[in-house]
Amino acid sequence: NPVVIGLTGGIGSGKSTVARMFGDLGVHWVDADIVAREVVEPGTPALAEIVGRFGDTILQDDGALDRAALRTIVFRDDSEREWLEGLLHPTIRDELARQLQPEDYHLPYVLLVSPLLLETDQHTLIRKAIVVDVPEETQIERTMARDSNDREQVERIIAAQIPRKHRMERADFVIHNDRPLDQVQAEVERLHQQLLDLTRS
Ligand code: ATP
Repeated sequence: NPVVIGLTGGIGSGKSTVARMFGDLGVHWVDADIVAREVVEPGTPALAEIVGRFGDTILQDDGALDRAALRTIVFRDDSEREWLEGLLHPTIRDELARQLQPEDYHLPYVLLVSPLLLETDQHTLIRKAIVVDVPEETQIERTMARDSNDREQVERIIAAQIPRKHRMERADFVIHNDRPLDQVQAEVERLHQQLLDLTRS
């Protein structure tokens, strides 16, 4: 089975951008944000449990989970948030573990890309952690440009995430992403070689 390497970073740091560069080198990667949405799609056991607890009003007209309504409930009530996390975190973790074992795969490692890698039990899935790092001001500017969020919104999200210093302390490898993309690409290619050497038994 391929070794799992984690890839994380704060909002707007460039996780997806860097993951795509690894993808271009043939590395399989799984995005935890996407998996977190997949496990509550219509027809899933997790969505059935959520409806069982909160009722049909938690669904949109098309049968999909009304995320805004769910967010409102769990922001108001810590015990509901704990219940939801108790349901979703293990479900997400199991689905990540499944998708991180692709069939017919020829490289010795895969990537788990997740903003919550270090904050949740997802870190138990990985052997090493790569942190994509940029100064906070760059995070704010890039996220504002991408999502048309205002500065206060982005600053609030950054404040809710693990502090940059703590994230960096837990990094085995760092990709500095406050530079032109061709330089980042070169750094990714170097790190890819290093990871191949590290994980080829
Ligand atoms: P999130 O956690 O919010 O999903 P992310 O960490 O995946 O974000 P990206 O979406 O990859 O971050 O990057 C944020 C924005 O910054 C994107 O619009 C991306 O195109 C841009 N960006 C990423 N890296 C660079 C770079 N080196 N130079 C200029 N722009 C960049």
